[in-house]
Amino acid sequence: SGEWGKVEALLKDFEEKCATPVGKLTQVADAMTVEMHAGLASEGGSKLKMLISYVDNLPTGYEEGLFYALDLGGTNFRVMRVQLGGKEKRIVKHEVKEVSIPQNVMAGSSSEVLFDFIATALAEFVATEGDDFHLPPGTLIKWTKGFSIEDMVGQDVVGELAKAMERAGLDVRVAALVNDTVGTLAGGRYNNPDVIAALILGTGTNAAYVERAHVIPKWHGLLPKSGEMVINMEWGNFRSSHLPVTEYDQNLDVESLNPGEQIYEKMISGMYLGEILRRVLCRMAEEASLFGDYVPSKLKIPFILRPYLHSSILTLFFSMQLVQLKVIYCHTCRTPDMAALHHDESADLKVVGNKLKDILEVPNSTLKMRKIVVELCDIITSRGARLSSAGIVGILKKLGKDTLKDGENQRSVIAVDGSLFERYTKFRNCLEETMKELLGDAVDSIVIELSNDGSGVGAALLAASHSQYT
Ligand code: ADP
Ligand code: MG
Repeated sequence: SGEWGKVEALLKDFEEKCATPVGKLTQVADAMTVEMHAGLASEGGSKLKMLISYVDNLPTGYEEGLFYALDLGGTNFRVMRVQLGGKEKRIVKHEVKEVSIPQNVMAGSSSEVLFDFIATALAEFVATEGDDFHLPPGTLIKWTKGFSIEDMVGQDVVGELAKAMERAGLDVRVAALVNDTVGTLAGGRYNNPDVIAALILGTGTNAAYVERAHVIPKWHGLLPKSGEMVINMEWGNFRSSHLPVTEYDQNLDVESLNPGEQIYEKMISGMYLGEILRRVLCRMAEEASLFGDYVPSKLKIPFILRPYLHSSILTLFFSMQLVQLKVIYCHTCRTPDMAALHHDESADLKVVGNKLKDILEVPNSTLKMRKIVVELCDIITSRGARLSSAGIVGILKKLGKDTLKDGENQRSVIAVDGSLFERYTKFRNCLEETMKELLGDAVDSIVIELSNDGSGVGAALLAASHSQYT
């Protein structure tokens, strides 16, 4: 058709604006390093909060006992039971149950409803404890959270949860809350002493790493014995003039519930990748008749419907991070669908054709159309994966681990948790390839490791060795 040239022009323009050549990524990495310094220097010194986690001892492998952990992520709620057997036996048993929180509970009128749901789910899980598990009274529970909570508000959450557990007849003590990134770092370190940082790549994205306590100017407390302190970067809020932000990203941001915030996250994480795709497809359909004479009405549905949580719960719990996560996102193009399109290896792109039919109600897509869709997936996902790599390199630079040093062959391992990294193979491959481009030979000393359920196990491990964190 006569419009095909327009489709290709829009595609080319989008591709150019999303470009992340090595030079640009190096600028992003350097900007990340600079912001890390600024965030550590003073409270509010940077868009990066660089939160001090108060975790100054990571697991050693000697931890013993039975622990439960609650992991409330951006999408899923998981209850976990871990039996730790000490240095020899390690993780004796590890069971996970995934529970989806019903909408009426999330949108319920009081926080009590949500906490009771969580406590009941936990009680049911505890009741399934086999003979080989034994729950002594007063067991510690760790709650991993996929969002950040101010200290005081955090106290309330722990208190509320404790009360709900009592109502559910559970004799457990809530130790405190652990950020999921910090949990992943702890879980990663337990498995591998070379782990220096952890990443979440799921609904949202974040990073935590081990910093030398004496280089944290805003830390005025005593230096911990270990000399180390885990820092929760809250890196999703990173922004820099070097980020390749397109008009589609700008519109997505403006229409999001937290405009101007989490800019880096909005270019990387699972909550947003599919939505970026929808926006580009919509424009191509409207302005260049990508799908022929009509614009699929499904393409016009924006991804936000309404707040996921009732506002009374919002005020109890959360800083902006959570407001942003706990929203019903009505995705026309979900990121898992996008991955399925992207991974279609068939010559006629059959999977893409079927998905276009099922999701967008485009009954007869041509191969040419399908190829454009796949191309867009590639542009969007590569950009996200490459920007994540640049962020990792920023952390390595901060730690002086981005280059090979004479006489040193210490490995540095980054533990990664989250379904985006785990299940979106092209995202993961691209991230790993980009590390090579950015680090050259030094990449041989860097390992990016999947840490499945790392955050939950990590939370249990922290429960084992500590009793108070944020
Ligand atoms: P949470 O973020 O709640 O802790 P996950 O780590 O499981 O949970 O991440 C869930 C997110 O990961 C989903 O919202 C989705 O965006 C993304 N995701 C899940 N499965 C896939 C997949 N197969 N391909 C791409 N992205 C996926
Ligand atoms: Mg998670």
